[in-house]
Amino acid sequence: MTQTSSDLHDLTVAQLATLLRERKVSALETAQYFLSRAAAHAELGTFLDLQPDTTLAQARAADARLAAGNAGPLTGVPLAHKDIFVTRDFATTAGSKMLQGYRSPFDATVVARLAEAGAVTLGKLNCDEFAMGSATENSAYGPVKNPWDTSCIPGGSSGGSAAAVAARLTPAATGTDTGGSIRQPASFCGVTGIKPTYGRASRYGMVAFASSLDQAGPLARSAEDCALMLSAMCGPDPDRDSTSLDMPAEDFTRSLNTDLAGLRIGIPAEFFGEGLAPDVRAAIDAALKVLEQLGARLVPISLPRTELSIPVYYIIAPAEASSNLSRFDGVKFGFRAKQYTDLNDMYLQTRAQGFGDEVKRRIMIGTYVLSHGYYDAYYLQAQKIRRMIADDFQQAFKQCDVIAGPVTPTVAWKLGGHSDPLADYLADIFTLPGSLAGLPGMSLPVGFGAGKMPVGMQLIGNYLSESRLLNVAHRFQQATDWHTAKPQGI
Ligand code: GLN
Repeated sequence: MTQTSSDLHDLTVAQLATLLRERKVSALETAQYFLSRAAAHAELGTFLDLQPDTTLAQARAADARLAAGNAGPLTGVPLAHKDIFVTRDFATTAGSKMLQGYRSPFDATVVARLAEAGAVTLGKLNCDEFAMGSATENSAYGPVKNPWDTSCIPGGSSGGSAAAVAARLTPAATGTDTGGSIRQPASFCGVTGIKPTYGRASRYGMVAFASSLDQAGPLARSAEDCALMLSAMCGPDPDRDSTSLDMPAEDFTRSLNTDLAGLRIGIPAEFFGEGLAPDVRAAIDAALKVLEQLGARLVPISLPRTELSIPVYYIIAPAEASSNLSRFDGVKFGFRAKQYTDLNDMYLQTRAQGFGDEVKRRIMIGTYVLSHGYYDAYYLQAQKIRRMIADDFQQAFKQCDVIAGPVTPTVAWKLGGHSDPLADYLADIFTLPGSLAGLPGMSLPVGFGAGKMPVGMQLIGNYLSESRLLNVAHRFQQATDWHTAKPQGI
């Protein structure tokens, strides 16, 4: 044994997978190590469910596979899932009291695919209730703390995933992104995350928020690790998700090393306006210089409807949510109010007590914009502008190969720092346009800003260009070491 288990947490997915394959470390000791790490860092609020017996049984099975020489690409690598993916062997809450005590009879497709690739599940990770939020403060199970400064939010809604990866409680995690929930927490926690093209990963078994936007993706410590994870997560699922793309599973690691010479990087003027904090801007500008040194060329572009993405998203996402969340009625899943007078009152009491404030706000907005008399003025109008936002990207991609800019206007704010939900919504301005268009986007660490908090750079590509995004990020990470920085005490 050349590897001491005391530094297992510093290894990337790629390094760990190699050591496991070479049998320099066992899946069992790796799982034990990470389980005790999770327990030792419980104060961060990242894990909602751990089932050590299940995890260790999976690890033993992985060791058997490794011994038999038929290991998959991730055999024995521990992972954790955002608690929005349903799991048979772990509780699923979606961060909501409404699903307290719920146990799914099946695994989400993404969970099943990662298990087939050999990954060992450590547990389920905290998130905003039904993935609605930007700070993981909307979880019914308490907030998550940012490992870089525990008085700050980790971002959201995949805040548990980003914080757990940053604190090295897991080498990688799954997340979901509806309007930025992989990219934004990745940025705030200094980790790498990618949201693929809408339809790349199956939504089967992802607790639905806004179905036309929801997409799964990985958070990890490098672009290479994200590529490994994404390769296992994606692929068609025609019988279970009719919006999953009819595209064969891809090996997203295959062009990681492609030279960037001649790459045209579009710089949208609207992403670099007054609202962008100077510390974030400085880190992005420096990262763009590195990409230029690697052979890329910066091209000014325009995404003229960037500002409209906020009202458009905050009409469409709540509209879809109000419909998706109608299934939580106290009959089929999880929580039911204890006292009620009749069936209708049972529905009312269950929904009043089971949902948190932000979820209720969205159900009300969604119901309103879909109602007779307001549908045309709000929902239909939003759909038309959504199409125009997608068209703007197609115009831009005539001039450039990828788009680069900030993920968020500022670094992570303080826990409790936004008292008005609108402040959260406005901070989504740079992630929403790509989401509305269904485009792939990623965040990679490019430095530190105010309060020594991490800054992420966003890369947005055209449909199905995940390999290109991962290639740009990988070349950047080979030339810099922002992605290897770790929080104090970790
Ligand atoms: N912050 C956005 C929202 O609250 C995005 C959430 C997400 O991507 N799941 O809706």
